[in-house]
Amino acid sequence: MPCEGKPRFVVLYGSQKGQAQSIAEWIAEEAEQHGLVADLSCLNQNEKFNLEKERAPVVFIVSTTGEGEPPENALRFVRGIRKKTLSPDHYKHLCYALLALGDTNYADFCNCGKKIDSRLQELGARQFYPTGYADDGTGLEVVVDPWIEGLWNGIREALSKMASDRTAHLKETVEDSILDIPNLSILDVHLNPLSISDQQNCEPVIASVNMDSKHASPVSSSASAVSDLSPASSAGSTRLASQSVGTGSVSISVPKAQTKDDGVSHAALAASLTSSLPPLSESSLNVPALPPPYLDVIFQEVDTEEQSIGPLNKESLYQVPISKAVQLSRGDSVKTALLVELDISAYPVMDYQPGDSFNVFCPNREAEVDSVLHRLGLQDKENHHVHVTLKKDTNKKGAQVPSHIPQNVSLLFLLTWCLEIRSVPKKAFLRALVEYTADCAQRRRLQELCSKQGAADYNLHVREPSLSVLELLAAFPSCSPPLSLLIEHLPRLQPRPYSAASSCLRHPGKLHFVFNVVEFPACSGRPAGGRGLCTGWLFDLIKPGLVFPVKAEPTSSLALPKVHVSLRPNCSFRPPSDPSVPFIMVGPGTGVAPFIGFLQQREEERRKNPEASFGETWLFYGCRHRDGDYLFREELESFVISGTLSHLKVCFSRDERKDEEAVTSAPRYVQHNLLLHCQQVTDLLLRQNGCFYVCGDAKNMAKDVNETLIEMIQTELQSDKLEAMKRLATLREEKRYLQDIWA
Ligand code: FAD
Repeated sequence: MPCEGKPRFVVLYGSQKGQAQSIAEWIAEEAEQHGLVADLSCLNQNEKFNLEKERAPVVFIVSTTGEGEPPENALRFVRGIRKKTLSPDHYKHLCYALLALGDTNYADFCNCGKKIDSRLQELGARQFYPTGYADDGTGLEVVVDPWIEGLWNGIREALSKMASDRTAHLKETVEDSILDIPNLSILDVHLNPLSISDQQNCEPVIASVNMDSKHASPVSSSASAVSDLSPASSAGSTRLASQSVGTGSVSISVPKAQTKDDGVSHAALAASLTSSLPPLSESSLNVPALPPPYLDVIFQEVDTEEQSIGPLNKESLYQVPISKAVQLSRGDSVKTALLVELDISAYPVMDYQPGDSFNVFCPNREAEVDSVLHRLGLQDKENHHVHVTLKKDTNKKGAQVPSHIPQNVSLLFLLTWCLEIRSVPKKAFLRALVEYTADCAQRRRLQELCSKQGAADYNLHVREPSLSVLELLAAFPSCSPPLSLLIEHLPRLQPRPYSAASSCLRHPGKLHFVFNVVEFPACSGRPAGGRGLCTGWLFDLIKPGLVFPVKAEPTSSLALPKVHVSLRPNCSFRPPSDPSVPFIMVGPGTGVAPFIGFLQQREEERRKNPEASFGETWLFYGCRHRDGDYLFREELESFVISGTLSHLKVCFSRDERKDEEAVTSAPRYVQHNLLLHCQQVTDLLLRQNGCFYVCGDAKNMAKDVNETLIEMIQTELQSDKLEAMKRLATLREEKRYLQDIWA
């Protein structure tokens, strides 16, 4: 409900994993501190907003998913604004700002945001504040924080302009109609009040410290003179709201202290998760507003112990047995690569095409769930049912019990299957934890980590090592949050997607996939290192039945468990529908997975239809060592022998080069091998209408391959870089340059 007297604006979000939603909620919550009131809605709640009539500024926060697609809850909106029947002045009245979220590791960075932005402008809408493009690959907050900081001024200026436009318009209308209504005066028209005092509404938190500047502020030191920012001492949580109001000029470039490339400040490098150095340890801090608590949790004792295992939404999932598990890499190799075969014969709906991937639903680790229970002091309540309800008096805009929180499940189930307990705590979460931290030095450090001044420390000690809330709580022992806070801040436990590494034609009723067990190094908040959640879990599951030789058949005594999976069809990452079209595949390491499916399918098609014309096929494969990590070696070589694979180009990045010549000419990575075959590859692509597929690591390999492709096209066309980039963009649009990559 709009507050009487406060100017309003609208916040609309489209969110896939909840990040855009939480930013939108954050903006709506902060609005009050800036003397504004926000109407918050999801883009699919079109009964809650009406852009056709909206006269207040509108702020869009939209993420991008899959291959540049809108999040599901923005699909309808995007389709709606795309309608060709809309006139170019359809949104002439609309004044908006847009924050696009994306990940530069993937193609079509921020595509959904960009599309909405340009379409709104085509329809006459005016932008009141520059669009922000936040990159999850480097840390959303690097752009999001300054963007929000400048937004408030933008909104005020927009309101001011809209009000004066309206006044002018009214004046014109009134004059035009020669005022035949005697009592109407322009001054009676209610305009949004604009006399908002920044000082009054946005008081920054000053948490100054008097301490010897030569010393860090270790959390164990309770003697440090950190200002107490508890609600009691700071006159209520609203006083803690603190984003200082921007000057009006919006800079969304990366601040120096926050970039890895430019180097974090010296102080940040010398500090640790739990301690800081000057100048941060001595700074006044701008900490974010305290997110209003919005959930109540009640425990209910139940008579029977719950046996529920597996995720809740069982109707869309299939529990399938693992029928085979093979270690593909040699024991001494740095990475452990495993192949898992699933028996999907009982579920014809799981029939897949090469190029499809599917989700594996894994639980949180038992030991970590136990640690959470102990840390929250709830170990004796693990079998109690948890009832989560909305706080009656919450100030949170659009508060709802998160959709991933089921009712009538045990606490154990909730922590095991519903919450991503390893997720990296956002700054809002750190801010909320401050309220439950007894020790002054620990409070101060948490405030630093979520403050504007502590952004580099947050990146270095929390975001980059992917610290989980459990690891954070271990480092801040006086912090004792309630369960409700974890439910408010932890996202849904996400399933992990894997690419199908087989073809149904070759293996009817079976689905193969391949993965590396992800290993995390130790760091200051995690002394022992660790394993990826899903890959570590799968490894433990299959270890008892693991076989080593690639062609080994499972022994009869093998009893492998079942896993929950769901299909994720991919409509574009498919072999060309016309078999005569040549194609090139680039898939180092486990990135070879979908291409095994492509080639098995092609081999079966050739067998069934020997007369048909089949285009050339190329595979560029790479790994560390020929002997230790060459996945599917025998199968790939047999594809070459059968003629299914026309060219197999392999390289080994860590194998010793035996002689001087090899040192200079042997390709190390797939992109080097591509360069060696520049002419053939570009000929297939540019003259023979061929397709180019890349699968695997998004962070390094896919980017390097992309750069190499640009270089190759440039050489081949004798053009400049821009021209080559355009050509590659066209190939992408024509769905002839396709990526299936993951970070
Ligand atoms: P998680 O616990 O989720 O960790 C995942 C990532 O978080 C790490 O890779 C790392 O980037 C980061 N991280 C977490 N903690 C740390 C830390 N302490 N230090 C540094 N970084 C950290 N993978 C395959 O192996 N084979 C496939 O065929 C495959 N296909 C995919 C298809 C698609 C469409 C997508 C989107 C992904 C695919 N993936 C594939 C990736 C896969 O889904 C998982 O992300 C991967 O297996 C890791 O899952 P995990 O739960 O073990 O790791």
